[in-house]
Amino acid sequence: MNLDEIKKGTPADGKWIACHECDLLHQHTKLPDGGKALCTRCGAFLYQNIPNSIEKAIALNLSAFMLLIMANCFPFLSLEISGRFVENYFLSGALMLYRQGMGEVGFLVLVTSALFPFLTITGMLYVLLPAKLGYRPWQMPRVYRMVTLLKPWSLISVFMLGVLISFVKLLDLATIIPGISLYAFIGLMVVMAAAQANLDTSVIWPFIKGDSKSKTTKGVTTAVAQNVAACHTCGLMVSQTGKNASHGHCPRCETPVHSRKPNSAERTWALIFSAILLFIPANFYPVMTVIQIGQEYPSTILGGVVHLIESGMWILALIIFFASIIVPVLKLIILSFLLISIQRKSTWRSRDRTLLFRVTEVVGAWSMVDIYVVAILAGLVNLGALSTIKPGIGVIFFGAVVVITMFAAHSFDPRLIWDNAERSK
Ligand SMILES: [Zn+2]
Ligand SMILES: [Zn+2]
Repeated sequence: MNLDEIKKGTPADGKWIACHECDLLHQHTKLPDGGKALCTRCGAFLYQNIPNSIEKAIALNLSAFMLLIMANCFPFLSLEISGRFVENYFLSGALMLYRQGMGEVGFLVLVTSALFPFLTITGMLYVLLPAKLGYRPWQMPRVYRMVTLLKPWSLISVFMLGVLISFVKLLDLATIIPGISLYAFIGLMVVMAAAQANLDTSVIWPFIKGDSKSKTTKGVTTAVAQNVAACHTCGLMVSQTGKNASHGHCPRCETPVHSRKPNSAERTWALIFSAILLFIPANFYPVMTVIQIGQEYPSTILGGVVHLIESGMWILALIIFFASIIVPVLKLIILSFLLISIQRKSTWRSRDRTLLFRVTEVVGAWSMVDIYVVAILAGLVNLGALSTIKPGIGVIFFGAVVVITMFAAHSFDPRLIWDNAERSK
């Protein structure tokens, strides 16, 4: 695909797609098996061609479904602390947080590690199985839209990192016996990643009526310049003017369609400021308290990192420091920098700025790891005055910081970076 061809052509039904990160129009061409199409301007992933994608995706989602059931039915971890034996289930951590008055954090752990992965997997099966048989299930676009919205919040791999860190932290305190559920969880992590990588979304949408009605125009550059907008869920090009105007909703999947995310800059700024404010108590208050033989040892995020260094666990200290301090701070700095550069109408290195945003969006979720560690430790180590780990109030503030920075990244519209480059042409 080269730009000249696109410029000569016209955006016709189903043959054009707009890059969701820079809004450039591309002609939809048939790719070789296993081929991937990237945006010629910003390098964003556009679409791919996977042979037998639908069969692969169904098989992988079915396996993921089985593994998820196993992960929740069998014991997760067993602990042996000074002669006492404790068996734990996967959801013990979330439940323990709730019992200790941290229902908000328990809920966050529950939805991101169990409920959202469950809804993602069952939602995909609901869409894919009938699609394979050639018909469209009831409310299919809504279900698919729910899946795409929940995907960034299904944090199985981050949770597994939390399990690994908790393991190492507990080594000198107790003997740990992994249960069947833990192995099922490791399998689930791999299978879910494979299921997402093997889905070619073009298998889902051709079954649906109400195809593209975009305006025919020449000299194409961006979708907005042609008065069309790409639907964020199904990729359909929707006309924004004339008698085929979308009136705000995609005719194919009913997602609200906007040329740009509404009030993106204002909303992102508001979320950035809230996150900065909450970041202060998140670091000031203890995130957990270790009680050993009647003595209480509260520790903040930074205190926990220092303690790990003192115990010689350098790698763990680095992971926690990076995920809990560096990532949120960098994310807030990068988003602010991008917003300022947009408001100053900068045309400087648009492609690199887009890449910076892409990295920020992906890395952000890993900040959840410390919250999982607290949940897992609180769920596992619960032997009264002898040995107990209690979550601290700081974890609520920190959880809020992570969620708000993730929302901030979602509300940012990278196409704004490119609008300035367009204007200055
Ligand atoms: Zn692009
Ligand atoms: Zn749509």
